[in-house]
Amino acid sequence: MASPFQTCDLWSLKPISGRASEVTVDVGFVCKKCHMVYPAEVLCLNHQRASCFQNKPVSEIKATLKLVQCHVECRACRERFTTIIDFKFHCDMDRHMKRVQKIQRGLRRQRLRLLSPTTLPTRWR
Ligand SMILES: [Zn+2]
Ligand SMILES: [Zn+2]
Repeated sequence: MASPFQTCDLWSLKPISGRASEVTVDVGFVCKKCHMVYPAEVLCLNHQRASCFQNKPVSEIKATLKLVQCHVECRACRERFTTIIDFKFHCDMDRHMKRVQKIQRGLRRQRLRLLSPTTLPTRWR
């Protein structure tokens, strides 16, 4: 029997880890008999109890299939993408690059603040 959960194995995030994080989003629940998709598990179970699995033992009613979608979230922009290709495309966009530059500038300023003037190396510039 196949696992009711879709996995993210299809696309490994290794090449872009550090720049993106993997998030899973519940898309819905599927009735195994009629393959209708419901936004919540309870709705799916109610439907199954009322029609598809009427007069059936509870163990059979449990036959819901959870639909999970894997998203890639850009750490800089907090934007989500359904495929790595979309994410890579986003990385080439001006909007994203500006955002990354802004974050890097912010980090540099923080680091500078941490160094008190007396600890700065003499050949700082
Ligand atoms: Zn059904
Ligand atoms: Zn971005």
